[in-house]
Amino acid sequence: QLSKRLKRVGEFVPEQSRLADIGSDHAYLPVALVLQSKIPFALAGEVVKGPFESAKKQVRKNGLEQQITVRLADGLDAVEKADEITAVTICGMGGSLIRDILDAGWNKQRLNGTEQLILQPNIGEKTLREWLTVHGYTILEEDILEENNKIYEIIVAARKATRIAYTEKEKLFGPILIQQRSTIFQKKWQRELKQREHILAQLAQAAGDQEARQEQLKREISEIKEVLVDES
Ligand code: SAM
Repeated sequence: QLSKRLKRVGEFVPEQSRLADIGSDHAYLPVALVLQSKIPFALAGEVVKGPFESAKKQVRKNGLEQQITVRLADGLDAVEKADEITAVTICGMGGSLIRDILDAGWNKQRLNGTEQLILQPNIGEKTLREWLTVHGYTILEEDILEENNKIYEIIVAARKATRIAYTEKEKLFGPILIQQRSTIFQKKWQRELKQREHILAQLAQAAGDQEARQEQLKREISEIKEVLVDES
């Protein structure tokens, strides 16, 4: 049984894709999609031995060794030309880690630019949208959902002939999410607002403390000088 988050990610994977799931952990997503017959082939990539073994076990348990290949590799190094990958999922990590994985893969030509990307950053969505924009990707779909009191975003992107120059605001909020302004979206940004207000109040308090300390030091300096003058 997939989590609500991974189920939603799976819904964005196009039918009949050849999928690379990078950072697959237990390979739950590829196993579920192959079992549903939504996709004929998947590659599960893992950089850590423990999750790599869990992924292999899960694939074996479901008798899917023919359809799912599990590889121990860093990011998109798991992808080989012969895999003919058409969709890539990278989920459950920070946006900057997903960005680093995409960037390394891009530089090593592990991505050919025709794959559909389905990304689910836990935080740092803006960083990821910035990378996508710079590399000519268009954001096709976005979603936001809540599970176990955590709010997750999903970003679906592909390279298109015409580039879209997203605004800073669109990169922060998501060009599609900001238009929909769903209840969960509002809940997320209420939380983010509170956090930022809290940090700002703390900074103001620290600035006030610093000012008081400066005044005290100035007072003491002039008192010391006065005493020293009296002595001489
Ligand atoms: N994708 C699954 C999900 O969304 O539920 C698992 C998420 S889990 C929190 C993140 C996984 O990514 C871990 O198993 C970790 O070992 C793997 N990972 C982190 N960096 C990676 C990299 N550079 N290449 C491949 N896997 C990586």
